[in-house]
Amino acid sequence: MEYFYCPDLSEDSDLVNLLSEEAHHLRNVFRKSPGEKIVLTNGHGLTATAEIEAADKKGVACKVKEVHKQAPSISRRISVALALIRPNRMDWAVEKLTELGVGSIYPVTTRFTSVNVFKEKHLRKIMVSALKQSKQAFLPELKPLMSFADWIAENDSYPDRIKLIAHMANDAVDISRLSLSSEKKIAIAIGPEGGFSVEEIAGCEQSGFRKVKLDNHILRAETAAISAVVHLKRYL
Ligand code: SAM
Repeated sequence: MEYFYCPDLSEDSDLVNLLSEEAHHLRNVFRKSPGEKIVLTNGHGLTATAEIEAADKKGVACKVKEVHKQAPSISRRISVALALIRPNRMDWAVEKLTELGVGSIYPVTTRFTSVNVFKEKHLRKIMVSALKQSKQAFLPELKPLMSFADWIAENDSYPDRIKLIAHMANDAVDISRLSLSSEKKIAIAIGPEGGFSVEEIAGCEQSGFRKVKLDNHILRAETAAISAVVHLKRYL
């Protein structure tokens, strides 16, 4: 059954209305009609089977049949800071990170960030679409754009977190050789096309970050983000 995004869905929902874009999708893309069954997800852990009651230009009303509370998948322990990259590449990265089920995505600006486009609303739409396509109940948190320094400082307030920075250097640990506690949350930073500056790496190390190598080759930032998460998921 197709998934539709319904942020208003709650544990005691009886009748819900789909928002305009979801309603348009349901009627015009999936061509669903009254009587058909669908699945609703609120992106915060709830899914529900529902039956379409009415679907017209005014909107889509759904009768909620059964609400399920999903347990968060363990991959939600991973949080990724991704330096801004070209919009089409950022779109791709955010879509794949959502499919992989990370807990949060921090778009950041770094010393060598050369892109200044951050389309938050557009990225959220891509995430919602990936959430539905991958049939999940949890949407990653898309954080507001912040400086890399602020992101490091934010992590300082969580001493228990495993902190990693993806950086190709001779003294970086191969990510497949890390020994990590499976209980803890993991924060990992991915740099922009120009990489991290020496000062940024030093700042991270002072804050307890470990440098990790992802591959023997230099990967594009978006590939690096996905590769890092796929590796880290094996520890969880
Ligand atoms: N010229 C840059 C450099 O030498 O750092 C290349 C930057 S790479 C295109 C973009 C980001 O992806 C890097 O800052 C790093 O975070 C990550 N990255 C790419 N390949 C990596 C690898 N093999 N190991 C670790 N991190 C990598």
